[in-house]
Amino acid sequence: MTVFPLPPGSTIGILGGGQLGRMLAMAAARLGFDTAILTPEADSPAARVAARVIVADYADPAALRTLAGISQVITFEFENVPAAAAAELQRLGAEVAPATRALAVSQDRLEEKSFLNAAGIGTVGFAAVDSEADLLAAFQRLGPSLLLKTRRGGYDGKGQSWVRRSDDPAAALASLGNLPCIAEAPADFRREMAVIAARGRDGEIALYPLTESHHENGILRRTSAPAKGSPRLFAEAEKIATTLLIALEYVGVLGVELFEDDDGRLLVNEFAPRVHNTGHWTLDGCEVDQFEQHIRAVSGWPLGPTAAIHHVEMTNLLGEEAGAWEKLAREPETRVWLYGKRQALAGRKMGHVNRLSRLDGA
Ligand code: AMP
Repeated sequence: MTVFPLPPGSTIGILGGGQLGRMLAMAAARLGFDTAILTPEADSPAARVAARVIVADYADPAALRTLAGISQVITFEFENVPAAAAAELQRLGAEVAPATRALAVSQDRLEEKSFLNAAGIGTVGFAAVDSEADLLAAFQRLGPSLLLKTRRGGYDGKGQSWVRRSDDPAAALASLGNLPCIAEAPADFRREMAVIAARGRDGEIALYPLTESHHENGILRRTSAPAKGSPRLFAEAEKIATTLLIALEYVGVLGVELFEDDDGRLLVNEFAPRVHNTGHWTLDGCEVDQFEQHIRAVSGWPLGPTAAIHHVEMTNLLGEEAGAWEKLAREPETRVWLYGKRQALAGRKMGHVNRLSRLDGA
């Protein structure tokens, strides 16, 4: 049985081998932990900075057994790990954090929004759409223009498209592969924002300053933090994040994407049970960054302080943009983070830069 807090020298298992896993592994190493990565991808960004790597499908029973055998705690760097894999790890007696409930809820947009509403947290209006009749009913209830999203598997704007009442409903459903969908009313937002929140094993909660985020083609492009806002806005973000952490009995870092409407009220778009791209600014902008915070939380360590020490403009480097590393490295205010991906495919997140400036009032 694992005893918390985990001492340095323990091994933290991570499902997923992308850049989030890489930055988690780097943070874990700084605290004296080893990491073991399970990923189907050979030569992944996380694997190259980890002590152990298991290249196998997430559902591979032997791989899960090996990971459970060498890890004192197991966490995730992305949420679309098959629920069966997480359940199998728990059956093997592994400590899994965050608990698989958060994973299951966040994997299905319909369950996620229903869960949020049940916890008293506002979202855009939505309806389940499994057929043409459902889509027509959704137009009746939610309005003439809706964002249709697959319930599962979508990310970075994939698996979603706008549909108007005048469109052919069969073609709209076919364009998303006739998969179970959710139709959402348009969010009439002034800003997109995010809050990164953490909860420790003892229930301690720590929140990072609010972030303003800018998307292009459904992909996060830029964030700016700490965001400006009224005390009421900050209090509302805090209430949302705290409610969610407690409702999910959460341990670890959670990313919550928000819409701010014209009246300065917040709705939740979605949440991710993991470290999040809108929290990359904390690497250079906060006392303890989101990656170290997640490692601290799942290891049963005390949470670290989250106060901002710089204002940060974070920009994702997509595709060939990371080729400008030499120029970027010459900018004194810029911190360059590159993920070691071998192929710069169009739109692929290859790295990010954090541009630092003085905090307002500092
Ligand atoms: P998602 O995959 O749900 O995070 O959506 C990606 C992006 O699409 C969001 O960051 C928004 O810019 C936009 N978006 C998502 N849902 C809505 C909505 N209901 N209304 C308007 N824009 C949306």
